[in-house]
Amino acid sequence: MSKQLILALSKGRILDETLPLLADAGIVPAEDLSKSRKLLFDTNLDDVKLVIIRATDVPTYVQMGAADLGVAGKDVLLEHGAEGLYEPLDLEIAKCKLMTAGIDGAKPARVRRRVATKFVNVARRYYAEQGIQAEVIKLYGAMELAPLMNLADEIVDIVDTGNTLRANGMSPRELIAPISTRLVVNKAAMTMKHERLKPLLARLSQAVERRRPAAELPAG
Ligand code: AMP
Repeated sequence: MSKQLILALSKGRILDETLPLLADAGIVPAEDLSKSRKLLFDTNLDDVKLVIIRATDVPTYVQMGAADLGVAGKDVLLEHGAEGLYEPLDLEIAKCKLMTAGIDGAKPARVRRRVATKFVNVARRYYAEQGIQAEVIKLYGAMELAPLMNLADEIVDIVDTGNTLRANGMSPRELIAPISTRLVVNKAAMTMKHERLKPLLARLSQAVERRRPAAELPAG
């Protein structure tokens, strides 16, 4: 196994919050990511490289060992499943909630509820746990449109400020899970590359702690 560590980062919204945290932990890309169409980057650390990929691909890269570690939203991890992955650190960024939502004032009356979401595994598990019969419809975006177009009674989606729901005449219903961004590590790499991973994880963990508001620091 090579001594190099490959860190897979989720593109998009999470990346904007991940890079400053990595910098706080002393990991800086060798070039400006926003000015490049490359996907594989060197860093200031000789043995750490970054790959920038779709958020939903991060668990696959790490699970298969193509990347040693990765940064992914808990929503993506819940949907993908955690086989072959350790989740040693909550990076406490990109916090939001995975929720059910529906049209303002409408009651989810249907015996067999139709639910539109991109989180089909999470949704199936959630409604089964609640003892609610649900027909889960996979969509790839604009979930808010589904109830308005009578495609679904309810959606399962990420809610941050709630503005997107409100703008479409919808409101959140039940909380499925609080979400934040997590560090995941390939299980084999955790053993085989432990010497190199350990200080890196420690630096990241310290960076997370330093960012916490003073009130949240443990007393003493
Ligand atoms: P909001 O209107 O602030 O409730 O944001 C809702 C939309 O923003 C959702 O439909 C998501 O697609 C996206 N979003 C918000 N927070 C996150 C996050 N932490 N990770 C991924 N997507 C997010």
